[in-house]
Amino acid sequence: NGFQVLGLAPELIAAVADLGYVEPTQVQNLVIPKAVQVTGESGRYADLMVSSQTGSGKTAAFLLPVLHTLLQQQAERAAQERAERERLAAEAAARGEAPPKAPKRKDPTNPRHFKAATPGALILCPTRELAQQVAHDAIDLVRHCRGLRIANVVGGMPYQVQIARLQNADLVVATPGRLLDLQRSMQIKLDQVQFLVVDEADRMLDLGFADDLAEVNALTAQRRQTMMFSATFAPRIQQLAMRVMHEGGKHVQ
Ligand code: AMP
Repeated sequence: NGFQVLGLAPELIAAVADLGYVEPTQVQNLVIPKAVQVTGESGRYADLMVSSQTGSGKTAAFLLPVLHTLLQQQAERAAQERAERERLAAEAAARGEAPPKAPKRKDPTNPRHFKAATPGALILCPTRELAQQVAHDAIDLVRHCRGLRIANVVGGMPYQVQIARLQNADLVVATPGRLLDLQRSMQIKLDQVQFLVVDEADRMLDLGFADDLAEVNALTAQRRQTMMFSATFAPRIQQLAMRVMHEGGKHVQ
């Protein structure tokens, strides 16, 4: 399977194989290795500006590296928590006590346990249909990943349904308007977003989302990776890139 050489997590390779993808498309070959690599000077994942058409496989080109890095971070956190539990258990044993109990999991449906969602990754799409398609693709790709949760935030769906799914989401696929509604009502906080993808940036500007994008940009973590996908690189897209990306992003293709 041609995805193996891209260095992706085995859970993702398995999902791609289930979908019947044998070889990465051109845009996937170009983007994935660049997107998962920490850049030398800054120690960050590189910002990328990608020219791509619908049908090129662009969705998997941004979903796979984001999911890969989220998985890696999750594994690191789990290892740290395990080490901490073992340390506490060893200390307790030295005192002749029983090991401490694991904390009880909170019930997300209990309103008393409510806390704002804090996703690590955010994909912005210009339309509800596209956001739903991207979320659908993301769900297909995480089928072998334990504990990576996807939520969809789009207008026209009941708030309650979206908020329930949103609570523990790692990756949120959203249209800008509804996302900012939920941010203003404090259902979601964006300061943990380390991966921001702007899909179909040119349509995003056509639909008048420039100010919303600037607002999201200001709310997400400073130290984050941004990937912008667009069919064209017209000057207005370049201007947007200058605003939301470190040094305007590295061009791919
Ligand atoms: P997109 O450009 O993301 O809208 O993708 C277009 C179509 O190509 C979608 O139906 C994907 O499921 C499919 N696709 C994406 N990557 C591959 C691949 N490497 N091999 C075969 N099909 C793919």
